[in-house]
Amino acid sequence: MVWPADYHMHTPLCHHATGQPTEYAARAVALGIKEIGFSDHSPMPQDDFDEWRMYFSKLDQYVADVRQAQKDHPQLTIKLALEVDYLPGQEDWIRKLARLHSWDYFIGSVHYISNSWAIDSPSKISEWKKHDPFEVWSIYFDRLTAAAESGLFEIIGHADLPKKFGIYPKQDCTPLFERFLKAAAKNNVAMELNTAGLRKDCKEIYPSQQIVQMARQHGVAITFGSDAHAPKEVGMNFTEAIELARSVGYTHYRRFTQRQMEAVPI
Ligand code: ZN
Ligand code: FE
Ligand code: FE
Ligand code: ZN
Repeated sequence: MVWPADYHMHTPLCHHATGQPTEYAARAVALGIKEIGFSDHSPMPQDDFDEWRMYFSKLDQYVADVRQAQKDHPQLTIKLALEVDYLPGQEDWIRKLARLHSWDYFIGSVHYISNSWAIDSPSKISEWKKHDPFEVWSIYFDRLTAAAESGLFEIIGHADLPKKFGIYPKQDCTPLFERFLKAAAKNNVAMELNTAGLRKDCKEIYPSQQIVQMARQHGVAITFGSDAHAPKEVGMNFTEAIELARSVGYTHYRRFTQRQMEAVPI
C-alpha cells in the first residue's frame, strides 16, 4: 500500500508513551511508510499543570531525540512537531513555543474544557457523570472552533475527542460541527483523521464519518495520524482511515515543511 504520512506520534518525554523516536522510525521503515512526524504533548507554562506532557526543560532533549531518529533513518522523512493543548489565554505561550525551534507543524488539540478537566483522562471519568454530555460537547467544540481561528495551528487533532468513552449527547451536534468546520475552512487549517479512536471505547476513528463528510463538503483539508504511544502503533489502522477519506471524496492530504503546506495525492 502507498502510505500517507503519519503525523501524530509521541515519545517517552510525555511520561505515558514507550519507545524512543528512533524505534518509531524503525517501525515506519519496516512498514514501508515514507514520512512521519513527531507531535508529542507540548509543555505548559507550569510543569505541574498535569502529569502527561513533557517538561519545558526537556524540549531541547525532545528535538535532539527526533534529530537522532532522522540521522538513524535517512531514507525516512521525519518531521518535527508538537501536539499543543489549546486553552484560551495561552496564545502567547504557544507563540513563544513556536519561536523556539524550526517546527514543521503544530497540531492544536483540545483535551481541557476547563483548567482542571481533560475530558479524555481516565482518572476524571467521574466528571462525566456530573455533567450533561451536550454541555461538554458544546464547550469542547467552542474551544475547538477558537483553536481553528487562532492562527496557531496547521492541524486540528482528534476533532471529536469527547466520544472517547462512548458517551454521546442526545441532542443533534451537527451545528457544533458546522461552526468548527467553517472556521477550519476559512482559516485554512487541516483536520486529522486519527486512528487512535479505534483503540478506545468509542471504537471509531476521530472524527466520525459524519464530520469527515461535512469537512469534505466545506473544503477542509486532512492529515493522517495514528497517535502512536508505542512503536507498534505507528501507521495502525491506516487502511480504514484512507478508506474513510476516499469514501467521502478526498483525493489529497496535506504535508508540512517548516509550517508550509503541500497537497499530496492519497
Ligand atoms: Zn498522549
Ligand atoms: Fe491528544
Ligand atoms: Fe496525541
Ligand atoms: Zn492525541
